[in-house]
Amino acid sequence: MKVGEPEKFIINGKRLDGRKPDEMRDVKIKAGVLKRADGSAYLEWGGNKVIAACYGPREVHPRHKARSHKAILRCIYNMAPFSVNDRKRPGPDRRSNEISKVTREALEPVVFTNLFPMTAIDIFIEILQANAGTRCTGITAASVALADAGIPMRDLVPACAAGKVGGEIVLDLFDLEDNYGEADLPVAIIPKSGEVSLLQMDGNLTEAEFKKAFKLALQGCEKVYEVQKKALKEKYGGN
Ligand code: ADP
Repeated sequence: MKVGEPEKFIINGKRLDGRKPDEMRDVKIKAGVLKRADGSAYLEWGGNKVIAACYGPREVHPRHKARSHKAILRCIYNMAPFSVNDRKRPGPDRRSNEISKVTREALEPVVFTNLFPMTAIDIFIEILQANAGTRCTGITAASVALADAGIPMRDLVPACAAGKVGGEIVLDLFDLEDNYGEADLPVAIIPKSGEVSLLQMDGNLTEAEFKKAFKLALQGCEKVYEVQKKALKEKYGGN
């Protein structure tokens, strides 16, 4: 057992933060929170607090990065030094580079990049407070920011993780579970097409456990999708 590891993760059917195994933390999203961005979103998801800002389509710098047949999508995921318990060293690192890349790959399939050749669409994700699952919160907030910027999209991209702690499959790990659990499975989907645009796994699961966790994560994504749509309706109205 590692230092700080809880003896049990599930006691009388409840997790250490009081949730049931298949229960998600509360998710709140507000669209359009930054005046100077073309589109933005603020998201609170359990102990996570995240801002996403979207700029573009705009001129590409450096120019040679421009593509003649489509817009390029660029994502930067950044964790604030004060977002975690031990101060995080400011600036990019391997982890944030990786998350920036998978975020771009998760969002690119829904954006009609072909409509804006020679331009860039830039997305900045700032993690102000982290409590596990930040890549899912970033993708979720970023797709609302893209929509808020008026970028033509096929759909939103909701994301949610499931995992394994104390031998049980659970939805939406919080930090203790993420740090000491056995597996973490972040998933992002494109609900209208049923496609999966992010699937990663940290840790080990049997095939049966994977199937159960994947199904649970998909259910989580559907719930997040509703919150994303609600945020846009609150700002723009409509059904
Ligand atoms: P995700 O945030 O998507 O779960 P990881 O699987 O890399 O990404 O888990 C990182 C989690 O660990 C963060 O969400 C945060 O709660 C916690 N953490 C604590 N300190 C740090 C740190 N210095 N750098 C990165 N993550 C940290």
